[in-house]
This record gives sequence, C-alpha cells and structure tokens, in this order.
Amino acid sequence: MARVLITGGAGFLGSHLCDRFIDDGHEVICIDNLITGTCDNIAHLFGNPKFKFIRHDVTEYLYVAGPLHYILHFASPASPIDYLELPIQTLKVGAMGTHKVLGLAKDKGARFLLASTSEVYGDPLIHPQPESYWGNVNPIGPRGVYDEAKRFAEALVMAYHRVHKMDTRIARIFNTYGPRMRPYDGRVVSNFITQALKGEPMTVYGDGSQTRSFCYVDDLIEAITRLLFSKETEPVNLGNPNEMSVLELATLVRELVKGTCGIEVQPLPVDDPKVRQPDISRARTILGWEPKVALREGLARTIEYFRGKA
Ligand code: UDP
Repeated sequence: MARVLITGGAGFLGSHLCDRFIDDGHEVICIDNLITGTCDNIAHLFGNPKFKFIRHDVTEYLYVAGPLHYILHFASPASPIDYLELPIQTLKVGAMGTHKVLGLAKDKGARFLLASTSEVYGDPLIHPQPESYWGNVNPIGPRGVYDEAKRFAEALVMAYHRVHKMDTRIARIFNTYGPRMRPYDGRVVSNFITQALKGEPMTVYGDGSQTRSFCYVDDLIEAITRLLFSKETEPVNLGNPNEMSVLELATLVRELVKGTCGIEVQPLPVDDPKVRQPDISRARTILGWEPKVALREGLARTIEYFRGKA
C-alpha cells in the first residue's frame, strides 16, 4: 500500500481524492491551509489511523517525514470569485507552491500529479479544445492570475520531468460539479442550485449563451486515479464533453429543483470564455476512461447535498 500526499486535500476535489485513496487502502496525508477548503469535507476521516491532516500553506517551506509514493497537487483557489479575491495567493500557489511540492516529490522519489485546468486554453479560438491547443489567454486580465499560474505550473512540471527525470502527470480539469462544492463558491452550478433552492432569481451572467461542459465529480476522480497510475507524462484533458449554454443549465436546474424562480441578468465577467468543451480523445485512448454520470443524475445528487446544507 502506498503513502499519498494530497495538497488542497480539504477542498472539493482534494477531499474526494482523500476518500478514494483511503477506500483503496492507502495512507493519505492531506495538506491544506483552509483558505478555500474546509475541514467539514474531511471531518469523517479524522480518527482514521491511515489519515493525517496538516494545516499548512504549501508556498512556505514544506517537509513531510517518512516515505511518499504519490503526490497530488490540488492546492489552489479554483473558483473565479476566489481567484479574483485572492489573486496573489493564486499566483503564489501555482508558482511557489508547485515549486515547493515538486521539490518534496523529487526528494522522496514520488510520482507527482498536477491539477491543471481548462483555463490554460483561456477564451479558446479552437473548439472543442484538444491538448495540442496552446490557448488564448489574457495575461494581465483579472482571470489571468489563475490561467497563468497554472500555465507556469505546467511548464515547471515539464521542466522537472525533463531535467530531473521526475515521474510526472498533468491533468487538465474541465468544469466539475458535485457534493462538497461550497454553496457560495460562485461557480455556476453551485450558484444556480443554491438560488433555486432558496427561490431566489438565478444570476445569469451576460446573455447566457456562453457554453460549458459539466463533469460529475465521481467520473473526474476515476479519471485522475487512472491518469496517476498510467504512464502518460503529457497533459490529458479530463471532463465531460456534454456541452450546453449557461441559460440551458439554468432551465435544467430549475426543473430539477421543481422551482419557480426567475432569472436575473448580470454583467459577464471580464475575459469569461465564450465556449468550452474538452476533446477527451486522449483520455479515452490512454486511460480507457469515459464519463458515465449523466448531467440530470449528477445534478440530482448535487441538489440533494445542497438541500442538506440549506
Ligand atoms: N455564470 C453565470 N452565473 C453565475 C455564475 C457563473 O452565468 O451565477 C457563468 C459564468 O459567467 C461562466 C459560466 O457560468 O460563463 C461558468 O462559470 P463558473 O464560475 O462556474 O466557471 P468557469 O467555467 O467560468 O471557470
């Protein structure tokens, strides 16, 4: 059984990864500074002898005693409102945090997996987005802090892979939703569900014609696990290609919640990508992976989780 370090392990995806590796019989060390993560997501793991939580900011010097076999670097603000509020922390964790965690992986001889993002493609001019696309990112816009931090992180991982011959993986994660998203994290799925459950108008930014493709968290966690245990060192897109407009999503959420709420139009955020859909041909071929959970099913499960929180 392996010893696995998960940075950002108290966050949405990080906490599901902690569960997955514990369930698979591994020992998990979770590091989080809790600026966007919460111990609520990992409370059920406290007391498990195979689980350890360390509250720490990975941009600071980092040392973990004992062997480490795998490191999954998920620490970062990841919702647009979070990285707009925390621009410097976002840049620091993508740059200095990734550097520190790579250094630890090198010292331990651990395999390293970076949580990268579809934001590396920016407001894409190629659609759907294959991994070979270099992107269309505004480096000085408000979103650029996240996009460029992750692009730098990818560059650093590849440099460590080439120079130090480190065993590395890069997951380009597209929009993912499910239980443990924060009700007020500002993302479209959590906003719409929270608003619909409260009978408040759903806030559609712009005319709602911009598109996204939503992947249920269980599918994503399976893909991350497969990528980690594959031999693939080039970036791999992970997401669900089922694309829809934001307005279509609003209508579907309202139907599933059986709500009657209206829609409130708000300004489109600066540099908000107009379209997004992953080309997952590589994930299909290399990982033998395919998302399985239909949007209606995934949203129903997510709505149940949010009802419990309301
Ligand atoms: N969005 C929206 N209303 C909201 C939150 C988001 O219309 O209350 C839009 C946002 O402008 C974007 C899409 O939904 O076009 C997805 O936004 P999200 O913040 O979930 O993630 P992104 O894909 O932009 O990183």
